[in-house]
Amino acid sequence: MVRSANNSVAMSIGILGGTFDPIHYGHLRSAVDVAEHFHLDQIRLIPSARPPHRQQPQATPAQRLALCQLAVADNDLFVVDERELQRQGASYTIDTLLSLRQEFPQCPLYLLLGTDAFLYMQTWHRWNELLDLTHIVVMQRSGENITMPESLAEWYQRHLSTKVAHSLAGSIWPITVSQLEISATDIRSKFAQGDNPQFLLPESVIQSIQQQGLYQQ
Ligand code: ATP
Repeated sequence: MVRSANNSVAMSIGILGGTFDPIHYGHLRSAVDVAEHFHLDQIRLIPSARPPHRQQPQATPAQRLALCQLAVADNDLFVVDERELQRQGASYTIDTLLSLRQEFPQCPLYLLLGTDAFLYMQTWHRWNELLDLTHIVVMQRSGENITMPESLAEWYQRHLSTKVAHSLAGSIWPITVSQLEISATDIRSKFAQGDNPQFLLPESVIQSIQQQGLYQQ
């Protein structure tokens, strides 16, 4: 919680977007690490409808949403946020942030990105406006070496922060998160091959995928 000038208390909100095809413990554990570091009150999981920069997901938006809801059903930290699924057109992060900022004008926002996503951020629609609306947390794995293109490195250095601030937006933090070598690609291929994905994602999510016959090919 952050106390503002008029002494009201605002929530600090983490934002984790992704295809979540399906959601797994790599997503959830790193979000918890970030929440603890910044004392976040809430992490909003935002499944993307039509990610503009990658192959389209295998499961439908409704299926991916339902799996996210199952994954965090018993956890008060996480909120599953449907706003990108309700919008028409491509899922641009800038539009999501504009709508979150409108809904939460007094809340510090923290956009959580894996290093893979961070490295190609400059290809995103209106990428250089993102820090007007949110902080960015780059979730690094221990010992990970990131080589950034020069223009990204310059922007990163300019906004780099080490102290936890209480501003609403504008800083970049690299944070080391638990190293869980889990990817949705690997999980989908385990389901397709009939291998056991136990302990890579919540059991309730595994059961639902199996009941629906998802990711069989
Ligand atoms: P896929 O294998 O289908 O590309 P993914 O497992 O990388 O999927 P996404 O939904 O694309 O999952 O990821 C959403 C966000 O979570 C991205 O910012 C990504 O960097 C991050 N992320 C994914 N897997 C991990 C992990 N194991 N640890 C930390 N962050 C992760």
